[in-house]
Amino acid sequence: MAESLTRDETCVFCRIVAGEIPSAFIFEDERVIAFRDINPEAPAHALIIPRTHIRDIAAAEAHDGDLLLALVQAANAVARHEGVAESGYRLVWNVGPDAGQAVFHLHLHLLGGRPLQWPPG
Ligand code: AMP
Repeated sequence: MAESLTRDETCVFCRIVAGEIPSAFIFEDERVIAFRDINPEAPAHALIIPRTHIRDIAAAEAHDGDLLLALVQAANAVARHEGVAESGYRLVWNVGPDAGQAVFHLHLHLLGGRPLQWPPG
């Protein structure tokens, strides 16, 4: 699949996809992987990412539509895996400085396992 060949040599999440940085996947298929956040902000905090390198949700294009749906479906599977499907969870895309984006490889945060404040801080 062509999209899985897209890689940024400097990207930490591309290195996780490639197995160069150890990470325990809690979901994986041919297009998507998920793993727990190294610095969790909630009892359940996972990252769902495409194997292919896309900078962030703002860089997603129309032809990425199926991939974005696959990410959301994977996130819902991760919610079941992490035991928060019934209690509830939040899915977050961070974009840019005001959102605190630190990793520039598309990732969907799944947060749950405690009541989450709204609006977020
Ligand atoms: P963002 O602020 O949306 O860019 O979030 C990036 C997230 O990636 C942060 O919550 C980090 O804790 C997380 N992170 C960075 N490096 C790793 C890693 N090697 N394994 C797991 N999570 C990571």
